[in-house]
Amino acid sequence: MQSRYFTIHEHPQGLPARELFALETRELGPLEDGEIRVRNAWLSVDPYMRGRMDGVTTYIEPFTLGEPLEGAATGEVIESRDERFKQGDKVRHMAGWRDIAQLPAEQAEPLPDFDVPEQAYLGVLGMPGTTAWVGLNVIANMQDGDNVLVSAAGGAVGSLAVQLAKANGGTVVGIAGDPKKLEWLEAQGVKAVSYRGKSAAELSAALKEACPEGFDVYYENVGGDCLEAALNNLRVGARIAVCGMIARYNDDAPAAGPGNLAMILIRRARMQGFIVFDHWQHHPDFINEFGPRVASGEIDYRETVHQGLESLPDAFLGLFSGDNQGKMLVKL
Ligand code: NDP
Repeated sequence: MQSRYFTIHEHPQGLPARELFALETRELGPLEDGEIRVRNAWLSVDPYMRGRMDGVTTYIEPFTLGEPLEGAATGEVIESRDERFKQGDKVRHMAGWRDIAQLPAEQAEPLPDFDVPEQAYLGVLGMPGTTAWVGLNVIANMQDGDNVLVSAAGGAVGSLAVQLAKANGGTVVGIAGDPKKLEWLEAQGVKAVSYRGKSAAELSAALKEACPEGFDVYYENVGGDCLEAALNNLRVGARIAVCGMIARYNDDAPAAGPGNLAMILIRRARMQGFIVFDHWQHHPDFINEFGPRVASGEIDYRETVHQGLESLPDAFLGLFSGDNQGKMLVKL
């Protein structure tokens, strides 16, 4: 059996070109004991993948040039030589960016059986959803009534973060670019602020207008001007959960930091980065609490779906121009 997969043959500079991504085919060897073969149905593309293209170890190993790229995926077991899985089982694993995956069974997990579409386990009930929960509750220690600011607020992580923050009772402000995201945020009762076409000073003024008393929590997904504007609008004792800095991922030279870091001192704020996989022990509880809430429709989650394996690079690159509302996915 053959597997079609995407790879890269060089490390990109800046925003990757579409031509960076090569679609290749390889013959899969016979299944070994302890392995499963999966027909992938849904593939996730995520901003962190950009960092793995640089050839540098960060908190995760870089992609290997010429080898299949990796990422979260769900699919159906079509062959198994492991007693944990049988043909027809639905699984989640990290052998994405390809149609047929062959992997050790221990690297796959069965999908829970909440009444939700399977791709929800890549978004609202997967890594992004867990990230939103961990960032607010474990890192930022969100308290009842806190005023919360979220950047990239209409994306996979941000759109759950704003709903969790909203349920907590304070003022919630979401920064986003795409007009559909801004509209969705307003419909959630979140004050939406566009960053597009605004300097850091203008964004700072817009945040002040949206929440004059300032923020107890800043859920940071973007960096750059969003961070600078947020720092100007902190309350005393604010907590900043640094989840991501997507505005910096395609930089090919170090960027200047915000000129107002002294606001951390002035507001006696705490700023902490985190990687969700260091907190993965919360995932089972998260999924048990939110599985039923997603199934009942209480949680409003969105997806942007590209069709077909060939569309993977466009889906991935679309993350950097805000093409996605909610989770960016590819359906095979
Ligand atoms: P999203 O679904 O939010 O997609 C990315 C969004 O970011 C885009 O839709 C776009 O929306 C916005 N964006 C892109 N470029 C810029 C820019 N230059 N300035 C401002 N906004 C921009 O992605 P995820 O929800 O998957 O991830 C959100 C963040 O969380 C990322 O930084 C990611 O790296 C991080 N993350 C961190 C994890 C961790 O463990 N720490 C785990 C998972 C994600 P718009 O229309 O608003 O421009």
